[in-house]
Amino acid sequence: MENCIFCKISKGEVPAEIVYQDDEFIAFKDIKPKAPIHILVIPKKHIISINHLSQEDKELMGKMFLLTKEIAEKIKVSKKGYKLVFNVGRGGGQVIDHLHLHLLAGWESTKDRDIPGMP
Ligand code: AMP
Ligand code: ZN
Repeated sequence: MENCIFCKISKGEVPAEIVYQDDEFIAFKDIKPKAPIHILVIPKKHIISINHLSQEDKELMGKMFLLTKEIAEKIKVSKKGYKLVFNVGRGGGQVIDHLHLHLLAGWESTKDRDIPGMP
């Protein structure tokens, strides 16, 4: 999509601090972090928001969640914990109209907790 900043980041036309990428997804650091660690995980496909998902996006979204879990492991926040947020529409705080999952983590006050089955 023309003029979509996240499509431009996906294509390498706009720089970003990329933490992961493959054919279908890219993850990069948020330019104005709202937590000590703030990463955005996006599909390269231009989907506007959760409201715009269709049946054909089922597999993509499944992959997106598994990938986000792997990124959390890679950056070592899995055990301590993190927040995942989708803002949907203006009323939900969405500013960029390209689907993105916020991964927020790194608060010092968060206590280590052992969750059964966590790596
Ligand atoms: P949302 O409010 O859910 O649409 O979130 C959009 C997020 O994108 C905000 O947290 C912004 O700080 C972030 N953002 C906007 N432009 C860029 C950019 N060029 N690189 C990285 N993050 C960005
Ligand atoms: Zn886009």
